[in-house]
Amino acid sequence: MRLPLVHLRLPRTLSFRLIMGLIAMLLAIFTLGNAVQLHVAQLQLDEEREAQIVAQRETFQQDIAAAEAQFQADLRYQLDILATAARGPLLNRVSAIPVDNQDNESEVIAQFTTCLEQSDPTRAYACLKVRAHRFAIDSMHLVNHLLIKTSIELLFAREGLIAVEILDWDDQLLDGYRLNDQGELQPLHAPFVAPRDVQRLAREVIEEEYLGQVIFYYTYAQIDAMRQRADEAIASFIAYSDAQFAAARQHLLRARLIEGLLFFVLSLVAISTITLVTITRPLKQLTQHAGALAAGDFTRQPTIAERRGDELSLLAKTFNLMSENLRKSYAALQQANAELEQKVAERTRELAEKNRELERLSTTDRLTQISNRAKLEDSFTKQLANSQRFDQPLSLLLVDVDFFKKINDNYGHAIGDQVLIEIAARLRATVRETDEPGRWGGEEFLVLLPNTDQEGGWQLAQRIRQAIAEHPFAEAGLPVTISLGLTSYSPGDDKNRILERADQALYRAKKEGRNRVCLLQDSHELLS
Ligand code: GH3
Ligand code: MG
Ligand code: MG
Repeated sequence: MRLPLVHLRLPRTLSFRLIMGLIAMLLAIFTLGNAVQLHVAQLQLDEEREAQIVAQRETFQQDIAAAEAQFQADLRYQLDILATAARGPLLNRVSAIPVDNQDNESEVIAQFTTCLEQSDPTRAYACLKVRAHRFAIDSMHLVNHLLIKTSIELLFAREGLIAVEILDWDDQLLDGYRLNDQGELQPLHAPFVAPRDVQRLAREVIEEEYLGQVIFYYTYAQIDAMRQRADEAIASFIAYSDAQFAAARQHLLRARLIEGLLFFVLSLVAISTITLVTITRPLKQLTQHAGALAAGDFTRQPTIAERRGDELSLLAKTFNLMSENLRKSYAALQQANAELEQKVAERTRELAEKNRELERLSTTDRLTQISNRAKLEDSFTKQLANSQRFDQPLSLLLVDVDFFKKINDNYGHAIGDQVLIEIAARLRATVRETDEPGRWGGEEFLVLLPNTDQEGGWQLAQRIRQAIAEHPFAEAGLPVTISLGLTSYSPGDDKNRILERADQALYRAKKEGRNRVCLLQDSHELLS
């Protein structure tokens, strides 16, 4: 089965990488530290456990040894009693007790039994010694047997003894007892065959009256049971300590884990905070500042702390210096730019003014300050095209000063110029705003009359003629007259034809006596 691929897009920021690195480092430290701590703790626990087991074992060993020693001591003590009881001198003294006196015999036995039970051989001896005068027994052997039998019965009542053999001087079984499986005492009819784990204790009894020996068979069942109990106790102790150890290990692991996690989280918080404060925030500020600079915002004042003394503060310091320099440079640049723009605007204004002046000069007659010939021709071409296209009326007036040469001759060129200037002013003052007067050349003027038919042109021409004739020219108040040639546009006319007609009309006006208007519509029609 294919697993769907998951593309994780991890942030590639410096702080993220730093934090991830530190987390990995922390995890490694935490894991390693925990493993070492756990190992050490485990070793300590193992040592403790081992020591406890050894101590326990020693205690048990001591207990067993003490029990064994006690057992041996008990045995020795009992044997001493038996030996004392079986001694000839003692029994010799009680030999006077009659043999058929069962009551006496029973009494002797009872007394001996009491002595044995008190487990004090000295006292038993003293007691028997006292009693010996009161009984008479003729058979020494019988008494011995009885005493030994009684002792043996008592001894059998104690734990450990399982069989007793009484042998004569030829090592022949004289008498003997053993415990059967039900724990009952039975007489031995043959020498006792002891199992392997049974200890055989022999005590020779050598006296003048009786020569022979007694063999006791003891089991170590009690000691063995003790040993087994000790082993079981140690085993159960080991099992218990194992469980305790496992629990302690679990507890230790949990405690270490919680401690480690706490340490890890705290460290993470600390590292994140430190990273945020020392790296991320200043870097972010620097980035924002750089972004603002890149966007051309130089108004922002640097806010990054420079007093920290680390690499970032050095960077911030350098950056702030650069930013400040950039800000200053930008301000200087802006000022220079503004000044430049102002200058350019001024220059542009001057240039436009000059251009306007130039245009005015190129289209204006220098002396009279009205349109010059070039301008007149240009305007005439446009107006004629307009009239041709929209069939609108257009009239043309050609003006010439009468006997101007005389004025020059009589009053000089300056006065002549003055007269020309004043004629131009009169022309302009008399015509409409839309009409265009201009100097055609020398003392000739041309007036373009758009949207004016020959009737309107005629009236205007008369008005102009009259205005000039009535005007006193120059300081001397000279009378000046003009002659005017008028013509209007007719369909099919071109520029030259119209000008020619105006020229002819003017010629006629001169010819017919001057100070007059002549209209020539076509070569045949002439008005004056
Ligand atoms: P008519 O009535 O036949 O026009 O006589 P006129 O003297 O006006 O004619 P003419 O053409 O013989 O003389 C024109 C004179 O105008 C000649 C010339 O010296 C003079 N004149 C031309 N331009 C100027 C100018 O700009 N200033 C002055 N003062 N005189 C000029
Ligand atoms: Mg002329
Ligand atoms: Mg003239």
